[in-house]
Order: sequence, then structure tokens, then C-alpha cells
Amino acid sequence: MVVVMAPGASEVQIQEVVQRMQLMGLTIHRSTGNGRTVLGCVGDPSAVDHADIRRLPGVQDCVQITAPFKLVSRQFQPETTVVHAGPATVGANRIAVMAGPCSVEGEEQTFLLAEMVARSGGGFLRGGAFKPRTSPYTFQGLGEEGLRILRRAADQNGLAVVTELLDVSHLSLVAQYADMLQIGARNMQNFSLLREVGKLDKPVLLKRGLSATIEEWLLAAEYILSSGNRQVVLCERGIRTFETYTRNTLDLSCVPVVQELSHLPIVVDPSHATGLREKVGPMARAAVAAGADGLMIEVHPQPEQALSDGAQSLYPAQFERLVRECRAIAEQLGRTL
Ligand code: PEP
Ligand code: MN
Repeated sequence: MVVVMAPGASEVQIQEVVQRMQLMGLTIHRSTGNGRTVLGCVGDPSAVDHADIRRLPGVQDCVQITAPFKLVSRQFQPETTVVHAGPATVGANRIAVMAGPCSVEGEEQTFLLAEMVARSGGGFLRGGAFKPRTSPYTFQGLGEEGLRILRRAADQNGLAVVTELLDVSHLSLVAQYADMLQIGARNMQNFSLLREVGKLDKPVLLKRGLSATIEEWLLAAEYILSSGNRQVVLCERGIRTFETYTRNTLDLSCVPVVQELSHLPIVVDPSHATGLREKVGPMARAAVAAGADGLMIEVHPQPEQALSDGAQSLYPAQFERLVRECRAIAEQLGRTL
């Protein structure tokens, strides 16, 4: 349930509503923006008489959120969340570009890519130091050494770092180096991990699970928000379907669907969605046209030698051209990139 306070409602009036709701056993999540306060009341609302609440001074409306997710819903917060991560932001008019290697493999590779991402106008350096590999016999990432390299390469180029966190035991380590913590597709429903990142004051990129519905994905985000952390970005990275030509199937229609249902910004990862270098460009351009708030793209100086995901990694020159094309599309839509 959300209680929408009238514009200009006083703090005393807001506190009175908060106390009433707390007495009824509800937990209050307050959101104040554009001079208006909305109180998200989570718990069992059956004891609440909506007409009573509407009569309280300063209350404009009281609405039941029928969706199973509450804090992530647009009913709770009408304006899109702007997530600030180090020097970068996601969710504003500017479309965020997150790019870099699948895995951090070494200094030379990472510094070269960071310089190129920054030169292209990107805001985030991505790269895995802890890799969720399908086979235990393939490269698992450089661990802390990879995090150190990412941090230095990003700092030298004014970029933010987004990198994956595989489990709770690495949380404090990864949080020391990253500006944004990536929860990978395979961990989307790792609820204890979601709760833990929810307790931090650090932005989270939540990838959609391999076979997750939009509702399951938004409920996963709800775990993070309900633990206290509102700085969440969603990332569509393709879902598993009967189609085998591409690695996954990019569900581009989830962009407008999520934007209707939720205030959280949504970025699209055409690299993991397609698994095919030549298909990354068309899908990235389509994502911008569909209104995505950002792109996550894998790029490698020598993709044929990459230790992971070489087949979907762009060559630097392809990436630079793609950014220019996406920028032109963004500008047609009144956005920047
Ligand atoms: C990644 O971004 O490196 C990654 C492993 O992605 P996903 O979790 O979407 O497979
Ligand atoms: Mn990858």
C-alpha cells in the first residue's frame, strides 16, 4: 500500500501517518522527490481502512499496490531512480555505456580497453574478476588482482567500475574496489546474497536470471530494496528459449514493460544475449531505440585470444563505431549517450 502525501504536507503530518502505519504493524519506506512524499507501507494491510487514512491531514491518496513487488513499483515512486556510481550515473537522460572485457585478464588488456571506453564517452568499465563459468575447468578469473587492475584502469580514465560478486564471502572485498556490484544471471535468486547487498550503501546491477520472468526479476530486486538499498539497476541479458542460433534470446520487450512497472533504470546487455559478435551491434542499436537506460557490452583487444566469451566480444574499432551509431539514435529520441 502507498500513502501519497499532498504536495507541501508538513513533516508533522507525515510523521503522524508514519506512526499510524507502524502501529498497524507495517514497515514504512519513505520516498521524497519533486516536493512530494510517498510512504510505502509493507506488511499485511488488511487492518488498514483506506478511507480513514485518506481523511488524515496532509494525505492526498492511499492506494493498494496490487503487484507482488512493492518498493520497486512505479506506483511507489513515479519518477525513475537515478543511480550514482562513482563518477557515473544510470537512469538520467544520458544513456549509460558499460563496457570492457568479459574477464579481466591482465593490465595491458584492461588499461587499453579503459582508455578506449573513456574516449568513446562510456561511463563504466566492466570486467569480471570472479567469473561464474559453466565449467569448473575453465578460467575462473584473477580474483583480487583483477579487482586491483580494474580499479586502477578505471581511476586513470575517470570511469566507474562494475564487476560481479559471486557470493557473500567476497562481499567486502569486491565492495572495496567496485562502484557498482553486479549480481549475475546465475545468482539472481540467491536471496541471501540479495539481502546482503541490500544492506550496503553501494549500487547494484541485477541481471535477469537465465529463465526468470519479469515478475521474478522484479521480486529479486525487491529483496535488495526491502533490505534498505534503493540504488538498483536492472540488466536484461537474454533469456533461455527454444531458439539455439543465438546464445540466449534478447527479450527487448521487457524494456518498456519494466519501465511501466518499475522506477528502476534498465540496461541491456546484447553481448550475453546473443553470444555472437556480429549480432551485438543490431541489438545494441535496437535497445537504445527501445528506450533502455544503458548498454553493457563486452569488448576485447584480441577477441580470438580471450579467456572467456571471445565469440561475443567486439573488436575495439567495432565498439567505437557502435557507440557513435547508438549516440545518433539516442539524439533522435532526445537523449544523450
Ligand atoms: C558477465 O556479465 O560477465 C556475465 C557472466 O553475465 P551473465 O550473468 O549475464 O551471464
Ligand atoms: Mn561474459
